[in-house]
Amino acid sequence: GCNFKNCFKKNWLLITTVVAVILGIGLGVLVREYARLSTQDKFYFGFPGEILMRMLKLIILPLIISSMITGVAALDSSVSGKIGLRAVVYYFSTTIIAVILGIVLVMTIKPGMSQNADDIDRTGSTPEVTTVDALLDLIRNMFPENLVQACFQQYKTKREELKPELAVNFTTVSPVTVVMTTALQENITKNYKIVGLYSDGINVLGLIVFCLVFGIVIGQMGEKGCVLVDFFDAINEATMKIVQIIMCYMPIGIFFLIAAKIIEVEDWDIFRKLGLYMVTVLTGLAIHATVCLPLLYFIIVRKNPLTFAMGMAQALLTALMISSSSATLPVTFRCAEENNQVDKRITRFVLPVGATINMDGTALYEAVAAIFIAQLNNYALDIGQIVTISITATAASIGAAGVPQAGMVTMVIVLSAVGLPANDVTLIMAVDWLLDRFRTMINVLGDAYGAGIVQKLSKKELERMDLSSDLDVVNPF
Ligand code: ASP
Repeated sequence: GCNFKNCFKKNWLLITTVVAVILGIGLGVLVREYARLSTQDKFYFGFPGEILMRMLKLIILPLIISSMITGVAALDSSVSGKIGLRAVVYYFSTTIIAVILGIVLVMTIKPGMSQNADDIDRTGSTPEVTTVDALLDLIRNMFPENLVQACFQQYKTKREELKPELAVNFTTVSPVTVVMTTALQENITKNYKIVGLYSDGINVLGLIVFCLVFGIVIGQMGEKGCVLVDFFDAINEATMKIVQIIMCYMPIGIFFLIAAKIIEVEDWDIFRKLGLYMVTVLTGLAIHATVCLPLLYFIIVRKNPLTFAMGMAQALLTALMISSSSATLPVTFRCAEENNQVDKRITRFVLPVGATINMDGTALYEAVAAIFIAQLNNYALDIGQIVTISITATAASIGAAGVPQAGMVTMVIVLSAVGLPANDVTLIMAVDWLLDRFRTMINVLGDAYGAGIVQKLSKKELERMDLSSDLDVVNPF
């Protein structure tokens, strides 16, 4: 049975993290009320959290590279093709479901009708961006011209034009980035932190595409390839061990991270102004997480979706706290493999891709936000424009990197596709940090259910592979 002691032993990390979140929020509120911290003090206060973020980000690169390469190399190319196709079909259909759900909700609740855009601060001039530019940008990212450069930050934008102390990472001079720079410049000076289109400087999408090809190739190279597969397999194992160590630090880091955030937020009044909009987004995310995804999981896998979601709890909580799918990836891996027993051949292949392109929460949010902005501007949308919003919201969610607030950056694509002023993203910017946390959590949940579903759908292939490798052991010749 599960007495208290056993239960704690099994779930100590989760329990400690939950306690850390609650205490952190409490501390944040207390400090806000009773202490006047200087900017410098606030900075020091957030330091332990910053260290957690740095450790998680550090591990992304070896984790993605080693898991993608070994994951793909472990499968026959016909099997990996099938699994990949299933994953992509899952990603696409759940994203579309999320978008439709968002559109239905925002058209019913009409959060922007009772309000006027002029009630909310809006700054900046309207930049031009075309959907074609954005799409080309996405594809461009898939083909990094330099593998090493794809792994770290490139400051090709004129960085001195931005306030350097505000940690703004624009990584290339692609059209979209330039547009965002102009659109957000004035807001940057207002203390908003915007992160570029890549995962804090790592071009994850580009690396994934390369590792995919590399993995397939070495998987087919026979003995020579085996050396490399073993090499990356060892790296993967070592990386996951390091993840285990980092996770022990997690409660401490998260405690300070959330406390510092609560202390940092200045404008709480905006939450009242944008209340109905936030309710719409959060309701949509909640329905997607508790109805759509679990139902799909149940229909296909025939197991209890709640048990599965509970197994992912640590990853979901991490996503909520750090608002980055990429940085949560190590935890997602551990939860999926250890708690939910998803096959490594599936997770290694499917999770990094999911964290990068499968963002149900982001897609839902982008659709709601775009229509909300239209409502604020008294801008009537016809059916064609609503279809355009669904398509571009899906594309924008694929294009968004798994880093904090990337979804808000790619919103420009959706807005300009239907002729709304792109700088109107600034209307919703002040509450984005909070919505970002929740949509990231749903993004991670979608990836996890996806791994479970793809595993079930690929059961036959996996079993056949097990069988043939068993035969190899019996008869190596
Ligand atoms: N922060 C989200 C993620 O990492 C992306 C977004 O901004 O919507 O999944």
